[in-house]
Amino acid sequence: MSSGGPADDAEDPADVRSGARAGQSSGARERVKSGAAWELHCRATADSAVDDRPGFVPDVYLDGLGTGTAALAAELCSAAVWERAGGGYRILDRDAVGRCQDLARLLSGQAARVRAAIRARDHARAQLMPEMAEAMVVTPLCAACGAPATRIELVGPGQLPAQWEHWPATAQDSFLRCRGPGQWYLIRDGVATSNDNPVQAGEAGRIAWAFRPPLRYDQVATAGFYDDAGFCQDCDAAYCYRHWHVSETGYGHCPAGHGKSLDPHW
Ligand SMILES: [Zn+2]
Ligand SMILES: [Zn+2]
Repeated sequence: MSSGGPADDAEDPADVRSGARAGQSSGARERVKSGAAWELHCRATADSAVDDRPGFVPDVYLDGLGTGTAALAAELCSAAVWERAGGGYRILDRDAVGRCQDLARLLSGQAARVRAAIRARDHARAQLMPEMAEAMVVTPLCAACGAPATRIELVGPGQLPAQWEHWPATAQDSFLRCRGPGQWYLIRDGVATSNDNPVQAGEAGRIAWAFRPPLRYDQVATAGFYDDAGFCQDCDAAYCYRHWHVSETGYGHCPAGHGKSLDPHW
């Protein structure tokens, strides 16, 4: 079925049989009018692959997502992206199902752990801990070469960044301009990208908690950084850009071969 490569050109008989006349996902995207319905489609498709029931969305699954999913499912049916099937819905967007299956295979074995980590992270993200906020500079070291893998700095209200004198004058100006009174500031050099932004005290506290020593993946992940500050969840160790072997799409592989997305735009 979706064992081969992309079927953009060839007409897949499975598509025809399933009634997915405009079965390519680009067409599906155009037919679904509301963003909420599309989001549900994407999420349900991914979960159907991860939960090993590719292309099928049980009613109980939708119930678990809360109220309002019935109307969205109806919208997806009228857009011919889903159809009613015993006890749930069948996803007609077979390209999307195939892509999600590929991804699920990639994650095979890790899926349960990934979900557990996401749950823990979501839980931790909801915790705002202003009392834990403290100015800090943390540079997790690459387990392969010892170079700094990433750098995380929290600047307290009224304080200046550690390397302030090396900042260009324009960057200094914008830092001083955009920081309000009592405002914390986060400066982050990730594996593949860098950015800095003001943060609330509660968020600063949560980040300080995530990076208290000794650094561990589970704890660092609660900061909610897209690259987990360079940590590989399977090695429970950080790696630098070079040792993540980052591809053009921002996807990396650690020296042990574990994959991870390291670019927020990917
Ligand atoms: Zn390295
Ligand atoms: Zn690894």
